[in-house]
Amino acid sequence: MRPYILAESNWGTIKDAEFELAILPWGATEAHNYHLPYGTDIIESDFIAAESAKIAWEKGAKVIVLPTIPYGVNTGQSDIFLDMNLNPSTQFAILNDVLEVLNRQGIYKLLIFNSHGGNDFKPLVRELGLKFPKMFICISNWFQSLDKNLFFENPGDHADEMETSLLLYLKPLFVLSKEQWGNGKEKKHKIKAFSEGWVWAERKWSEISEDTGVGDPKSASKEKGEKYFKAVTQKMSDLFYEVCKADIQNLYE
Ligand SMILES: [Zn+2]
Repeated sequence: MRPYILAESNWGTIKDAEFELAILPWGATEAHNYHLPYGTDIIESDFIAAESAKIAWEKGAKVIVLPTIPYGVNTGQSDIFLDMNLNPSTQFAILNDVLEVLNRQGIYKLLIFNSHGGNDFKPLVRELGLKFPKMFICISNWFQSLDKNLFFENPGDHADEMETSLLLYLKPLFVLSKEQWGNGKEKKHKIKAFSEGWVWAERKWSEISEDTGVGDPKSASKEKGEKYFKAVTQKMSDLFYEVCKADIQNLYE
């Protein structure tokens, strides 16, 4: 039993415990190229949040990791078989209920540990922040916390070299053999401004990628996954620790 994982904790231990920060991992259930499992984002959430919490806990941070929310926003993948979708308004309702529990029970810091690019919590957190003024709510994207170029050769953002390497390290039995990996080639928008990043429209996933991947996984390896996992959990644990110890009435210098 890891004392910083709620799903493994029992009432006997937890009723007298005190926590400074709740971590809410949030994944998605969706196709990841031909070769990675639908639960890739859930697996990443579970492992990265747990290991980061372990490191922070051992330094003295009172963190509690809540169970991972397994569905995310997949509105752009409605025609991809069994890609599950949670609408942003449903996410709002879930987050509202989680915040109500924490607020009532005096855990005033929540970190949303996002693992899926389609989840966009900012507008939700803005609105919920007004509703729960005592709560400090923050959102993290571990997949943006480090420069991926230092770890991987090929860029990408979905079932790419990074995700394939992580899964080869964390859950190798769930990764199909290499000859079944698609090349994750992404078709770019004909209107250049969209590629420049200052105009946005949701990508129609089935039209931008043949195999559902974005980013070529061919250079992925277990070793790269391990190296990245260690670096990313170290970085996230520093964040957990700092948020735990921060005075939310006095955040700016
Ligand atoms: Zn993913």
